[in-house]
Amino acid sequence: MKTTHIILSAALIAALAGCRTVPMTGRSQLMLSSAASENELGASAYNEYKQQTKPTSNANQQAVLARVGNSIKDASGETGFAWEFNVLESDTVNAFCLPGGKVAVYTGMMRKFSNEAELACVVAHEVGHAIARHGGERSSWSQLQSLGMSGVAAYGNETAQTIYGIGTEYGLMLPYSRKHENEADLIGLYLMAKAGYDPQAAVDFWKKFDTGNSSKLDELLSTHPCDATRVANLSEHLAEAQEIYSQCAAKRGLGVAIVDGQPQM
Ligand SMILES: [Zn+2]
Repeated sequence: MKTTHIILSAALIAALAGCRTVPMTGRSQLMLSSAASENELGASAYNEYKQQTKPTSNANQQAVLARVGNSIKDASGETGFAWEFNVLESDTVNAFCLPGGKVAVYTGMMRKFSNEAELACVVAHEVGHAIARHGGERSSWSQLQSLGMSGVAAYGNETAQTIYGIGTEYGLMLPYSRKHENEADLIGLYLMAKAGYDPQAAVDFWKKFDTGNSSKLDELLSTHPCDATRVANLSEHLAEAQEIYSQCAAKRGLGVAIVDGQPQM
């Protein structure tokens, strides 16, 4: 058998064996890793990370995140995760979700929110990455690459973006591809609406960061690209999200106000 045949056969087997449909968007994705192993890795990385970057003792911040997290979790319908939500003490302006539903929002990020619905928008975006298993998808492409698949034309651009796998220096904080960001935005928009938060808040929140001046972009934006395109994409799907929101029986609107990082509970 020629090498090219072996490579193509390997690609075919991998593709047939490892396809998954992303919840809420219906996109077909390559998935060669198991949810169980991703979740295990996520849980141990999260526990280790919390030793260095401690959960805050600010009870109101933890309470508002618990409320948002629980409603987003319920809206996702994902029951296979051991969900955990923590506000971590750090000036870093960011949030993340490790595989298996391990969510964290930094105190530095809390200061960027005007209300609970904006927090919901960021949490739902991170949960979107988790339920779409973007980390597992990246690591799957990476596995294909290591099989020598980088030359396969159809996969050319994807593999370059997947060299950052799970587990390397909390690699999930490294930038996702634009495709994954857009998908997490879309899932997040639907999730926050289903959870009872006004999805208009997502558009308003990201608009605040759309300065058009890259020198002003902080750490949040280096891992979560934010520009006019992003706001436009969200706006494009806002009507669908508003429809979902209108069907929610327990609406929270914008929730409580958040002033200087302090939820007005
Ligand atoms: Zn993201």
